[in-house]
Amino acid sequence: MKQPIYLDYNATAPVLPEVKQAVLDAMDCTGNPSSVHSAGRQAKKIIEDARVKVAALVGARARDVVFTSGGTEANNLVLKGTPAASIITSTIEHDCILAGAKSSGKPVYLVPVTNSGVVDLISLAEILAKAEKPALVSIMLANNEMGAIQPMTEVSQISKEYGAFVHTDAVQAAGKMNIDRDALGVDYLTLSGHKFGGPKGVGALILTPTAPLSAEIVGGGQELGRRSGTENVASIAGFGVAAIAAFDNITQMERIEKMRDHLEIAISQKADDAIVVGKACPDRLANTSCIIMPHTSGETQVMHMDLNNICISSGSACSSGKVKVSHVMTALGFDANKASNSIRISLGLGTTETDIEQFLSAWFDLYDRTQKRHASEIKAES
Ligand code: PLP
Repeated sequence: MKQPIYLDYNATAPVLPEVKQAVLDAMDCTGNPSSVHSAGRQAKKIIEDARVKVAALVGARARDVVFTSGGTEANNLVLKGTPAASIITSTIEHDCILAGAKSSGKPVYLVPVTNSGVVDLISLAEILAKAEKPALVSIMLANNEMGAIQPMTEVSQISKEYGAFVHTDAVQAAGKMNIDRDALGVDYLTLSGHKFGGPKGVGALILTPTAPLSAEIVGGGQELGRRSGTENVASIAGFGVAAIAAFDNITQMERIEKMRDHLEIAISQKADDAIVVGKACPDRLANTSCIIMPHTSGETQVMHMDLNNICISSGSACSSGKVKVSHVMTALGFDANKASNSIRISLGLGTTETDIEQFLSAWFDLYDRTQKRHASEIKAES
């Protein structure tokens, strides 16, 4: 079968060939990293080499990196392992933050976002003033659905004035923009390997030397007691290689942004009733586009694209036979109807101009058909 046109990099990015090789090589290493013999030391070395590479991606020290099973676990670890008395997060976070905060048992406060998808800093300060202290402020560095980049340095500055700890979920930002942990001023930062060419099921929580954290998974005391369990050596090796490659990914973002902008301009020229979500956002991930096509559900659009051999995502998700409207779209102020008509197109290293043209041709085709159907429905009603 012909390879599909893959425009869903924010869901997961293809594994890089050098990552695949590193994973295979590490699988040949038999030792348990906790064993003191030579085979164990060899496995330990693979992990420690990867730790240096992952730390370098965000300007941290190797010992600050706690390897986890991915972004979801790292986010849960900080939300549940923090000694903070309350959690302050935003309305556009990933579900694993919203659900993790709720299940932490601590009071949770949600900071609203502006229509362009940026956290409202005045509301943040107001919430910080009234929340139980110290609070943990957890704000994502870049949004997964529409790409809004958050003003993390300002978020940290304001939060520190109230004695809060600060966490950022940088899962979508990594490999798409430079990340300097110290410049962001955060105490904790989350990464996930599969979003930038690494294996699925491996990630990290990166914390500063003074950031407190209790372990969620206890046992053999691996990861300096912060996350027990024999490490996933092969995936960690691949994660390290992907972290090095991520520096190169970032240099490709200008080329990717041009294709993304072309896509959005072409859609706006063809369909003045289509909405490019987050267009007014001052800072957006270069690879992400979120579009609302009038009168057509996101699910229908995803299916239409799939029939045209194109992979994209819809903001809404179907669970238990019901379509769940994206909380991100609702937080941006879209009504349920518009919110359920959103799709996400996310580009990456392998995206070509031809891919974009084929996507546009399929989108225009569906748009024209929908417009005709809608016009005849209106005529029938009148
Ligand atoms: N945070 C964000 C912003 C994400 O987009 C995702 C995955 O989509 C996650 C966290 C979860 O990461 P993982 O898939 O590694 O559990």
